[in-house]
Amino acid sequence: MKIICIGRNYVEHAKEMNAALPSTPIFFMKPETALLRTRDFFYPKFTSNLHYECEIVLKIDKVGKNIDEKFAHTYYSSCTLGIDFTARDVQQNCKDKGLPWEISKSFDQSAPLSKTWIPLKDSTKEIKFQLEKNGKVVQSGSNLDMIFSFDQIIAYISKFITLKKGDLIFTGTPAGVGKVEIGDNLKCLLMEKEVLNFNIR
Ligand code: MG
Repeated sequence: MKIICIGRNYVEHAKEMNAALPSTPIFFMKPETALLRTRDFFYPKFTSNLHYECEIVLKIDKVGKNIDEKFAHTYYSSCTLGIDFTARDVQQNCKDKGLPWEISKSFDQSAPLSKTWIPLKDSTKEIKFQLEKNGKVVQSGSNLDMIFSFDQIIAYISKFITLKKGDLIFTGTPAGVGKVEIGDNLKCLLMEKEVLNFNIR
């Protein structure tokens, strides 16, 4: 199982990062060990600027390579929410040196994932989601604001990498990313329903 994450998929988030809008999807990967399987997240020692990024996550249902965009919708049937934790200071340091920024994104527990999946019959319908930090809404998103749709993402990734049943795709984060500190609580809401709730320790 692999986790593929899309970067810069919302205009307002690209702006807040002072990053150019991509002409094709940008993706990177996290290993399976990035999944958070307990209720608590332990703040890593190697960063002092850890950011949350709440994202819609798709689960791939069947193997596919070079998937045509018009058939991409047959490769997934549900979605949920996850957090793409990012050590922003480590990432910036890597970017400044022109190095890959894997270590800022792919560390253990960097991908908390909800266990609640909702069926996705029609991905052209709006899927709204929110992240609350300590009870206050810090991110609000909608799949309709994505630069690249679910189907475009799947078509693009599968040109390079075979997708397999059980693979996860984090589809990018909307604007409002920010720091977490020890003691914070993060709560993700998908279509107004709480699907993930955990503490930073
Ligand atoms: Mg992200």
